[in-house]
Amino acid sequence: MRPLIAGNWKMHGSLAEASRLAEELKGGASGADLLVCPPFLHIQAVVSAVQGSAVAVGGQDCHAAAKGAHTGDVSAAMLRDAGATHVILGHSERRADHGETDAGVRAKTEAALAVGLTPIVCVGETEAQRLAGEAERVVETQLSGSLPDGFAEAGGVVAYEPVWAIGTGRTPTEDDIAAIHGAMRRVLVGRFGKAAEGTRLLYGGSVKPGNAAAILALPHVDGALVGGASLVAADFLAIAKAA
Ligand code: PEP
Repeated sequence: MRPLIAGNWKMHGSLAEASRLAEELKGGASGADLLVCPPFLHIQAVVSAVQGSAVAVGGQDCHAAAKGAHTGDVSAAMLRDAGATHVILGHSERRADHGETDAGVRAKTEAALAVGLTPIVCVGETEAQRLAGEAERVVETQLSGSLPDGFAEAGGVVAYEPVWAIGTGRTPTEDDIAAIHGAMRRVLVGRFGKAAEGTRLLYGGSVKPGNAAAILALPHVDGALVGGASLVAADFLAIAKAA
């Protein structure tokens, strides 16, 4: 399956920096699909900057409702309108900072699918959960609670991001990544059937140019969700090249 290399820019950069970074990525199409997810306010500028290239643009969240009295929020339709094609949902930073639950993530995912956005739903265990031997069970519970019916058929993407690996420079062992990705595939195929054989399963958590090739070669790792290294064009493109 063609890998997806997605950059989560989080709350970084000025408008000018976002446009410049997007420009630097334009020529970098490779054997992988490239996606960048800037802050909401930078989406339109980034969409303009990458126009005519193969780089896609996504949001980092959306509200579950189509519209209404939700101060400070952004709907899935607004993201589409701005030129986004994807949206990251249920990132562990949103689960932690905004108390997002599996049921809430599921509702947002339904909203994204309803307007034709490709959701990238994030799951992953904390360090305490991994040390307690619960990583696989936690991920399976998050998957069953966060993914709506029709998710695989609609081309939804899942990102496995162990919370303790995000921004820390630490990663699970290759065996541990392969084990979780294999378990995710089994769960998804069990629920969605054949469609889930084509569901892209991304790994996220301290992916860098130096470890990307080994991680991306693992079975059922169909791409990466990249935080810190996606803010440096050369690093992000090197990760894409490793795919
Ligand atoms: C992320 O936040 O999605 C992420 C994977 O971050 P980093 O690559 O910096 O660990």
